[in-house]
Amino acid sequence: MRIFTASLATETNTFSPMYTDLQSFYQCFYAAPGEHPATPTLCSAPLIACRNYAASHPEVCLIEGTCTWAEPGGLLNRAAYEHLRDEILTQLRAALPVDLVMLGLHGAMVAQGYDDCEGDLLQRVRQLVGPNAIIGTTLDPHSHLTALRQQQADLLIAFKEFPHLDFMQRAEELLQLSLRAARREIQPVMSSFDCRMIDVFPTSNEPMKSFISKLKQLEQQAPVLSVSVIHGFMAGDVADMGSKILVITDNAAAQGAQLAEQLGQELFSFRGRTLPQFYSIAQALDQLELTQAPVVLADVWDNPGGGVAGDGTLILHELIRRQQRGVAVGTLWDPMAVRLCQAAGEGAEIELRFGGKSGASAGAPVDKKVTVRRLQANAEQNFAGSRVPMGDCALIHFDGIDVILNSNRCQSFDPSLFCALGLKPADYQVLLIKSTNHFYQGFVGLAERIIYVDAGAPYPSNPRTNAYQKLQRPIWPRVEAPFDVS
Ligand SMILES: [Zn+2]
Repeated sequence: MRIFTASLATETNTFSPMYTDLQSFYQCFYAAPGEHPATPTLCSAPLIACRNYAASHPEVCLIEGTCTWAEPGGLLNRAAYEHLRDEILTQLRAALPVDLVMLGLHGAMVAQGYDDCEGDLLQRVRQLVGPNAIIGTTLDPHSHLTALRQQQADLLIAFKEFPHLDFMQRAEELLQLSLRAARREIQPVMSSFDCRMIDVFPTSNEPMKSFISKLKQLEQQAPVLSVSVIHGFMAGDVADMGSKILVITDNAAAQGAQLAEQLGQELFSFRGRTLPQFYSIAQALDQLELTQAPVVLADVWDNPGGGVAGDGTLILHELIRRQQRGVAVGTLWDPMAVRLCQAAGEGAEIELRFGGKSGASAGAPVDKKVTVRRLQANAEQNFAGSRVPMGDCALIHFDGIDVILNSNRCQSFDPSLFCALGLKPADYQVLLIKSTNHFYQGFVGLAERIIYVDAGAPYPSNPRTNAYQKLQRPIWPRVEAPFDVS
């Protein structure tokens, strides 16, 4: 059994000015063949699953390809995409013949000239390996599902949880099903249903929590092998943007299609009621006096995990205006300010302009006399067993507020981001973080209360008004009753 594995992933917010190039991949996560660390990243989990399996199965020959991931951002540079794609294809060509190709993809990567990067990659992989090899891929649920991907791959499995804490489980499941398919014990057939909607579906609360439990039960009932919810990614303007259900059966296409439709209609019935309560900045900050510390303020729409900058200052400005003290901000992306802090050195008091530099919508820069409390090279935070690089960081202090400035854009996954700069998150009254829901599991045990703050920018969070060009299908909430439109 010869298995080739690789990973190429990012999530493209086609509305974002934060363009993505090769440097974005190298800076975030890049592992050449054989150099992947022992800990998985979100999208490269199939490689770790393969390594673990190969270690106890001497009949398996594992060939590792490149694994790389760029922080979600704007449109991917065409040459960068083709370079990374061809790097992996060249490795695969050298590894032929193979029985199994295990890829870790995201599913919402869009490059200049390629609206469906993953479909393009899968098609080229199929051309190389031939019709009999099994191609299996993990996907992020915040992805687009295209017919081309379904045609070219044998098995597509999306993470079930949001936060995506189950990425390793899904990778192992993918490997097990792919192995059975390669041994001709099963014949996977994929059926999908277009739910004609776009929404955000955290699975840490109802109704999604129970829905996910139900999917797991269904997977135990033959001929169902796997059920994925493709949540969709509203910041990606492509033809297939939207929520879909993907069912894999053991050679039972009609039954799979029926189940996908039934589950898809159930998901459609959840529209508009899957999110926790979001508050305006004023509503959120009004609650601080009534709440015991520490309170987490989640800036849900300045989340670098959605491809925006993560340097928005709207909430911070209001905290400053209200003279709120005991605040820790983790993090604000500003590599230029980090550099200035490094030059000044730990302990220095400097006039600093930070944040608010990437665009006009998410708040003006902050100008303050700050103390550089700590500098940390190559800081990292944890996320479900993976390590997330924050780059060189500076901790600055002014007026009862500590701010971590980072130089690698990344969302706030876990309280370890504060510890990386020597802070004890439990000591603060307010923790201001940038994340939509991935932070939840990490912070829920620490926070007395979590308040989701909708600052209104810069993520294109309203699909009703987003200026889509390529999305032409009728989908809710742009169309109230999309199934009535023929
Ligand atoms: Zn995601």
